Amino acid sequence: MPEDTLFSKIARGEIPSTEVYSDENFYAFRDINPGAPTHVLVVPRRPIPMITDATEADALLLGRLLLVANKIAEKEGLTKDGFRYVINCGAWGGQTVFHLHVHILGGRPMAWPPG
Ligand code: AMP
Repeated sequence: MPEDTLFSKIARGEIPSTEVYSDENFYAFRDINPGAPTHVLVVPRRPIPMITDATEADALLLGRLLLVANKIAEKEGLTKDGFRYVINCGAWGGQTVFHLHVHILGGRPMAWPPG
């Protein structure tokens, strides 16, 4: 069933994670393999496989996803020096978990362009 993604199980507490934020629509937790001193993943509880699968009906959810990410970035102390949001999409984009998520990466200067 579509709800049975790795990240749905994490959001439901069926797989352990380090919670950073939780509300009725979103769950955020620390990446198990951090790419920066701060690396948080924000996921909508209702899974959308890829950002390109989002439709007009998801517009509010997508906006709120970024506002929740902003709240977390602020709470994690990232906003003064700056940080990065990443949404990987598909194989060449480096997506490995097909449940839409925003990476919040910070705590060090970020290289550009990314690898
Ligand atoms: P992506 O490659 O954009 O799909 O990102 C998936 C991310 O999920 C990677 O950065 C992984 O390190 C992370 N990840 C995979 N399994 C877990 C887990 N059980 N707990 C926390 N993060 C995970």
